Amino acid sequence: MKYDVIVIGGGLAGLTSAIRCAEAGLKSVVISAGESALAFASGAIDVLGFDQHQSPIEDPFGHIKQLPAGHPYHKIGTESLRQSLAFFQAQMAAAGLTMGSHGQINHGRLTALGAMRPAWFSQKGAHTFSLAAPAAGIRHVAVVNLAGFRDFQPTLVAAGLSRQPGFADVAFTLADIKAETLNINARNAYELRSLELARTLKRDLFTQPNGLHILSSALQKAARNADLVVIPSVLAVAGGNDLMVELEQLSGLRICEVATLPPSLPGMRMAAALQQRFRHAGGLFLEGDQVLGGHFEQNRLLSINTRLNQDISMSASHFVLATGSFFSLGLVSDRHELKEPVFGLSVNGTADREQWSEECFMGGGQHRFSHTGVITDASLNPCYIGQTINNLYCVGAVLDGFNPVQAGCAGGVAIGTGWFAAERIISAMAHTPVRQVQEIC
Ligand SMILES: Cc1cc2nc3c(=O)[nH]c(=O)nc-3n(C[C@H](O)[C@H](O)[C@H](O)COP(=O)(O)OP(=O)(O)OC[C@H]3O[C@@H](n4cnc5c(N)ncnc54)[C@H](O)[C@@H]3O)c2cc1C
Repeated sequence: MKYDVIVIGGGLAGLTSAIRCAEAGLKSVVISAGESALAFASGAIDVLGFDQHQSPIEDPFGHIKQLPAGHPYHKIGTESLRQSLAFFQAQMAAAGLTMGSHGQINHGRLTALGAMRPAWFSQKGAHTFSLAAPAAGIRHVAVVNLAGFRDFQPTLVAAGLSRQPGFADVAFTLADIKAETLNINARNAYELRSLELARTLKRDLFTQPNGLHILSSALQKAARNADLVVIPSVLAVAGGNDLMVELEQLSGLRICEVATLPPSLPGMRMAAALQQRFRHAGGLFLEGDQVLGGHFEQNRLLSINTRLNQDISMSASHFVLATGSFFSLGLVSDRHELKEPVFGLSVNGTADREQWSEECFMGGGQHRFSHTGVITDASLNPCYIGQTINNLYCVGAVLDGFNPVQAGCAGGVAIGTGWFAAERIISAMAHTPVRQVQEIC
């Protein structure tokens, strides 16, 4: 089995790379061991949210030059980052997922704890706040839960939101629309997780011809003329944003859908849209298999082996490593070391375990493990036993040199580096003699 490109890891970074390669006509395959971080993420894209003092940033592109040397944005450059974001937005739109923005500045997105995080793109169902004046035009907020959903606590949302600038004098109404009102037929509706609740609503409420009207009327009653109604994201995965728009039109309310504890429906929508675009471009998505290692010769990776195909190597001209961070086992640690487990690529960790993290986990300090990752050169090529591997690119959360939580840049790094690696591969493939012969034939 010989491919032009093998992408290892099917998260935001890997699929961005893979879609771009497949769209350019390269024979591309993605091998992904399991769910990516998207199933946990908000479904928004953060490009750069905070400066070095942890203050929210309105203009991320204006702040990139202040990022520490070694940050992936310095390697790919701001122009590539802009192009990658435009590419991503167009791909999502083609899959029916509209990603809204506030032009060239960040907006605020609300979290399930009532915090306001700077974001670049948000899905249509989420209300986007002005970062400069988030409470503009809002005097009364209703936070409404559905069927006692346990992973969304209106009191927490209201407490957090009331601490945001301008919200101190805003009135809050807290409510729960009962399962009976929504005709949900589940013995303990409040024990359902977000995905189960969405399935139950689809089965019991939205199959009724007046299902959306029932929900709309219940929301109107619960909201008591609030300027903004905050609800948990539990209505649907597929078509969830369109449902939110319909609900707003029907109820006349301004509604903000908030991603909840995993599984996050907005994150799942994004994962589904990315996979759809990759398959649409002719790519092969192999789910549930794990890459175990590879065969190197001098400065090239020739082939890989997977858990399900240990005796048959898969070879390619180029490879992309997009296996994520500790969360997705793209990086692992034991008592003695931090390492990249697939190939054993050079990682920037330290041998001194005491230095891996700050003593106080939630103390606001920068834990060193957050910066850990695979060391790469300016082309995102890593190092294996002292040699730079020219046809292997590392992208997304597996990279070193940035702290995604502290800087609020995880989504931008994943999309930007994924796209950048694909552009390098496309350019290299266009200049390989073998490909020219194939094209002439
Ligand atoms: C809880 C949470 C909330 C977040 N919220 C946001 C947000 O609001 N905004 C934002 O911009 N970003 C957010 N992020 C971050 C963002 O989603 C991730 O940083 C980004 O998706 C990283 O993408 P990735 O493709 O590099 O890695 P991942 O999404 O981690 O994907 C890696 C994939 O590789 C697979 N894999 C690992 N090892 C192997 C192997 N050996 N063989 C084959 N496959 C393998 C894994 O199974 C996984 O599918 C959040 C992340 C988390 C965890």
